[in-house]
Amino acid sequence: MKKFAVFGNPIKHSISPRLHNYAIKELGLDAFYSRILLEDNIKLKEKFNTLNLDGANITIPFKEDAFKVCDHLDRYANHIGSINTLVKKNNTLYGYNTDAPGFLKAIEEFGKINSALILGAGGTAKALAYALYTKNIKADILNRSEKRKSNFKQSNFYLWDDFKIEQYDLVINSTSAGLVDEEYPVPKELLEDIFKNSSFAFDVIYNKNTPFLRLANSFKIPNKDGKDMLVYQAVLALNFFYNSNLDEKKIEIAMKKAISL
Ligand code: NDP
Repeated sequence: MKKFAVFGNPIKHSISPRLHNYAIKELGLDAFYSRILLEDNIKLKEKFNTLNLDGANITIPFKEDAFKVCDHLDRYANHIGSINTLVKKNNTLYGYNTDAPGFLKAIEEFGKINSALILGAGGTAKALAYALYTKNIKADILNRSEKRKSNFKQSNFYLWDDFKIEQYDLVINSTSAGLVDEEYPVPKELLEDIFKNSSFAFDVIYNKNTPFLRLANSFKIPNKDGKDMLVYQAVLALNFFYNSNLDEKKIEIAMKKAISL
């Protein structure tokens, strides 16, 4: 039996075990996926090996620590500097970032996108900016503080006060504003001006009608939350656990069923 897990802190609310175990069952695989609360980032590799895992997902706040323990990295991981998927092959550790391609798949339904504004500058913003860059989509960053500006060498980086409204095809909330509170990712008046000049909106937060999404709706801007991104990153991760030998469409169908249970 193969063994997988998700590492994070906090971890009890993670729905990854539900998605993966449901897909494992539907695809008739011999495996089990659990969740591990990690207190200390130094213990990540040790825990992975002690538990004799074949693969793992990594979530907040360990994605950058996990990047450092890998022997091999995929193209996305290498550029972004963080991973969410760890796979053991012949006693070496392979690291993948499936958030970036998961996001690209999630926005496909908006059609051709040429420009995007990313609100926020954290780890997720970095993954999204690189994902858009690989598709030749211009991605500007708008954040409340300047401290992470150096992570975005290929993008224009604006602070709230120096931002001049432009036309964007897609506006993305990649901050955690709205996750456990009712905050907007940028001041409401500024977000209203942004939406007046935008075609689509995407929130990385899932299963919540955030203030960002409610405002997009009030401007009648087609929008979606981060549920599909979550599913697609998990689909790609499970396939990496099996050396890319699984049918991704079947995993997607199973995981979409699991998320709506
Ligand atoms: P980080 O902590 O790395 O970054 C958070 C960013 O949000 C920072 O730029 C921070 O600004 C900004 N921010 C936080 N709170 C506020 C606020 N109240 N107002 C304005 N800006 C704020 O987080 P991550 O990038 O790792 O995660 C961001 C979100 O993405 C989380 O909600 C997470 O759940 C979600 N996520 C969803 C995924 C999916 O599959 N759907 C996958 C991965 C993440 P500053 O730089 O000034 O501190």
